[in-house]
Amino acid sequence: MNVLVAEDSDVIRAIIMQIISELGHTVCAAENGLEAVELFKDQNAEKIDLIVMDAEMPIMDGMTSTSQIRTLAGDDWLPIIFLSAHSEDSYLQKALDSGADVYLRKPINKVELAAQIKAMGRIAEMKNKLDEVNVQLHDLANQDGLTKIANRRAFNERINYELKQSHRNKIPFSLVLCDIDYFKLYNDTYGHLAGDNCLKKVAKTIERSFRRETDMVARYGGEEFAVLLPGTNSDEARPLVENMLKNINALDIPHSSSEVAKHITISAGVVTHNDEENEKTSSTFIHLADKNLYKAKEGGRNQIIVSA
Ligand SMILES: [Mg+2]
Repeated sequence: MNVLVAEDSDVIRAIIMQIISELGHTVCAAENGLEAVELFKDQNAEKIDLIVMDAEMPIMDGMTSTSQIRTLAGDDWLPIIFLSAHSEDSYLQKALDSGADVYLRKPINKVELAAQIKAMGRIAEMKNKLDEVNVQLHDLANQDGLTKIANRRAFNERINYELKQSHRNKIPFSLVLCDIDYFKLYNDTYGHLAGDNCLKKVAKTIERSFRRETDMVARYGGEEFAVLLPGTNSDEARPLVENMLKNINALDIPHSSSEVAKHITISAGVVTHNDEENEKTSSTFIHLADKNLYKAKEGGRNQIIVSA
């Protein structure tokens, strides 16, 4: 761990730093509360994992420093061990209220301090693991199991957000709905395993056709995909979607029972939410894209329909 020690007494600071070093941690030091806050703000190179904070210090005391650091840290929890010569309950209460996790009375008991550092270290480690698992869970909840792109749930969340953004900031926003042509026939001809592989390849190809960081490609349903293109008007969307169609054709996945080509093709409907328009609901917007997709199917498939 990287431990920050805030203590104004040179002698006590040296003792604490030695205890921490002996536990195998790296340590940095502040001589008052303000310095501790500055060091915490400046932790770009080395993240601070734990703080040992003296209560009584000049310039800024430990309580003020602790509450400022808690505010800076926001949702990130880090353990703070408080040291003080005061033994009154009211003082202890104040320290805990300011954000201290542990309150140790001075003079320092080396064994006690070392034990608390170890205990806090274990909690911090568990917290880090929990955060990682939460990130993984979030990813899983928003990812399509087969294709590994965003799922319908993530799409729904994002389209509502983007429609609001588009309306509020008066920027265009395009939606693409795509559907693999004659996919049921593909499954009937080649089997479901081949069908799954085809979906994976098509998903990858759609994804690499839209490379901007704000673009989102999602699996909308069985063989349906949706692409969100924030900040994109219909003139800008058209070549991007045409290029996607080209890329799908170039995959050249054989489809002998297709009535439009000898390989897998895709149809797409595109709609744009424009600057001056009233805010549309996501279902209206999706419905319009779906109508264009239907027209693309009716018009012979392997094509796109874009409405201005
Ligand atoms: Mg002091």
